[in-house]
Amino acid sequence: MLKRTEGIVLKTIPFGEADLIVTFLTYDFGLIKAFAKSPRKIKSRFGSSLEPLTYSKISFWGKEDANLPRLTQSDIILPFKSIRERLDCFLKASEIIELTVNMLPEHEANKKIFTLLLDILKTMEKDCGALLTAILYKVKFLDLAGYAPRLDGCARCGKSGFSFYVSHGAILCENCATGMDSHVKLSQGSIRLYESLRRWDNSLAGRIKPSGNLFAELSGMINDHIRYTLSKPLKSEAFYNLTK
Ligand SMILES: [Zn+2]
Repeated sequence: MLKRTEGIVLKTIPFGEADLIVTFLTYDFGLIKAFAKSPRKIKSRFGSSLEPLTYSKISFWGKEDANLPRLTQSDIILPFKSIRERLDCFLKASEIIELTVNMLPEHEANKKIFTLLLDILKTMEKDCGALLTAILYKVKFLDLAGYAPRLDGCARCGKSGFSFYVSHGAILCENCATGMDSHVKLSQGSIRLYESLRRWDNSLAGRIKPSGNLFAELSGMINDHIRYTLSKPLKSEAFYNLTK
């Protein structure tokens, strides 16, 4: 059956001499992999529409939950070319793409995550230096995907606290954390910033500038949480830090 939707190219893997396996985040079917015949040939009908981050109208043949439906059409809506042309910007985008590919199950539509990714890419395309883009994406994504850390008081008794225990993905108060020692101290400001990021409209990422300290503290904690949840660091995060 022919299916139509909109998709963002998250990843491509070469297959054979000229074919590609493309991972898309789609509006209607969530994360899917599709087989593209000969896009690497010069006169391919896919043109440049399978470049990473490209947002297109796509059609594919086969059940979307089949192993590899075949991509039949891909028409660019937005190429996000400026992001791809700047290394620092592309690495920042790669980090959130990698998070998305690694954490989302395939074939489960999540329209809010699709819209979030699209909005954040639009902000990055306009202003690659906007400080909050990656962290806003991470915080809202974790929330929508069901992996949000809990910072609104002790996860066991509700008492207020500022020590984040990465193994619990939550804040625990002194009493409840007896015997545990590995934690990160958070300030009230970064907890407040976190709660704001969860609620903010996606478009605010490009407009608000928090203090550097709060931003660094919250980013560190979110990256620890992601590393623990995935049981590995994001490759692009390590690479991005090297190039800063
Ligand atoms: Zn407690």
